[in-house]
This record gives sequence, structure tokens and C-alpha cells, in this order.
Amino acid sequence: MGRIDVVRQVVTCTACELREGCTGPVPFRGDPGGIVVVGEAPGEQEDRSGRPFIGPAGHKLTDLLAEVGIYPDGYVNTVSCFPHGTPTPGHVEACEHNKWAQIDLLDPTYLLLVGKVALKGMRSELELKRGRGRPLVVNDRLCFGTYHPAAALRNSSYEAAMRSDLARFKDLVDAGRDRWMEFIPPSCAACPVDPVYYEPDGLGWCAVHLPTTVAPLYEAILAAQHDDLEAARVRSGQRRDHALAAVEAAADPDWMAQAWDVLVEYLRTHAEFFVDDFWNDTGLAKPREARALGPLVMRAARQDLMVKSGVFRKSTASNMTEKPVWRSLIHVT
Ligand code: SF4
Repeated sequence: MGRIDVVRQVVTCTACELREGCTGPVPFRGDPGGIVVVGEAPGEQEDRSGRPFIGPAGHKLTDLLAEVGIYPDGYVNTVSCFPHGTPTPGHVEACEHNKWAQIDLLDPTYLLLVGKVALKGMRSELELKRGRGRPLVVNDRLCFGTYHPAAALRNSSYEAAMRSDLARFKDLVDAGRDRWMEFIPPSCAACPVDPVYYEPDGLGWCAVHLPTTVAPLYEAILAAQHDDLEAARVRSGQRRDHALAAVEAAADPDWMAQAWDVLVEYLRTHAEFFVDDFWNDTGLAKPREARALGPLVMRAARQDLMVKSGVFRKSTASNMTEKPVWRSLIHVT
């Protein structure tokens, strides 16, 4: 859809009851570019003017972003009509098609999600407290959540937290997509499930493992959130090795031996290793021992049998997570 089609779709939408209580839906503003801000919904001023992010919260956000040297290319709202309060999940769902039509038109590399509604509109399982300040990937867009600027206007501690979030966002944007993807873990550190929480230093946890077993660790990581990124990567690597060693120790040794042979043979006959393809191509028994593939992949990497190619593909196991594609170093043509 072109620009006019997208604007027409938004301003003529009557898909939910919010339309009846507002002046009219407020479409995006801006042009295609690298960074687009995704907000919650139009406020009173935006409703009157028909332009997003022009009220006090919008100005606050512009100021905070300018402090760290970020000048967004566009602004989109999760819900396009003035909700007279906080939009409900039903409103978010009703307006989903408008949000994505506008984002796809602007086609940014990075989405800055401001506030709970914007974050949960992308990843419904994430709470702002734990979802903010870390890189995510949704529909191939690199996303990063922080507080809504209205919270910063109300409370200086939110403003301070937002400042540090935005500084980290700037670091990650400057580092580029590949670096960003290094912080996206392919699976929970304790099991093979796709993580729902991404930590700032590249470790991930599924919903089962995070809340009780890892919460203190998680809080410690939050405290260290703004340490040097490289130091964080080292800590992450150490902890990942530890988690992988525990998985390996718990696995069936016969399965491990068989799977290692299959993996090495696969690397001889395939230029690339992508975990979904590997399972499909080899027919290796998967369900119970799937987690044990992680240590074998790392062993193969340590033995210089494969390296990360820098390419990521969406996993069929999840419509939210990209996983790394590895390059075989022993592929025989
Ligand atoms: Fe349509 Fe979104 Fe407005 Fe509801 S909030 S009427 S879905 S534009």
C-alpha cells in the first residue's frame, strides 16, 4: 500500500468503539527511515490536531531523544483513536492492522516502543518492568521498549530510567543490526523453548524458568544494565556455558554420542546449519533431548567445525524469534 492508501485506511477506520468518542483517527507522521517511535494512542491535543506526538508527552520524548542524539524518522500509535484513558487489549487488537500498515509503510530498521501499551502491543507476555531497556525482534523489526514520556513528566525517577534506556538504545542502534542480534538469545538458557524475556546481556529465559529460579539473578543484571556492553557479553558467555554444561550433564549420553556423529556428518554435507532445517533434514529424535543440541552446537563451534554466519532466519517454531544461521567449516563440495 502507498502512503495515501495507508492514511485513508486509518482515517476511515471504524473497527472499534473508540471511533465514536474521538474527533477522528490520527495517522502516522514522518517518512520512511531508520527509527520509528511507536506510542500508545493520541492524547487530547493530538485528537484535536490530527497529528501524533505533538502534546507535552511528545515534546518530552523529543527532548529526551535529542539528548542522546536520536532524531526519529516517524511516529506511529498502537491505537489510532483518542481513547479517553488507557486503550484495552481489545482496542489494541482491533487497531493492529492499522499499526502494521503504518510501520510497514515507514519500513524502519528500529522501533522504539514507548510505554506499556506499545510494548505489550508487540509482545503481549512482556511487562514493562522487565521488557524495557532490552533488544527484541518482532516481525523482523528490531524493537526496544522504554517508559512512556508521560510517566517521565509525572515522576523524575521514570525520567532518569528513560534517559538510561534511551542511551542504551542509541548504543545498540550505533552498533548495528548484527550486534543487536547478538543480544537475542536463540532459546531459554535452561530449556529449548524460545525465550520470552531477553536480558540486556544476551541471555534469555522462558516464562517457566524466569520468575522463580532466575529472578534474583535477573535483578542483578538489571543493576548492571549500563555497564560496558562487552563486559556484559563476557558475563553472558560464562553463564551460558554454565547453563549448557548443566544441560549436557543431564542428557542421555547415548543420544549425545549419536547426535554428535549426525551433526558432524551434517556439517560435512551442508554449507549451512540452521536448527529448524537440521531437525527436519536429519530426522534425529527431537522432543525430549532437543535442548541437548545446544551444547553440541557450541562444541562444534569450539572445535572450529562451524561459525555463526551473521545471518538470522525466522524460526518456524515461533513467529517472533530469529535464530542464527551457522556456516559449516568442514563442508565438502
Ligand atoms: Fe479503527 Fe483503531 Fe480507531 Fe478502533 S482505534 S476505530 S481500530 S482506527
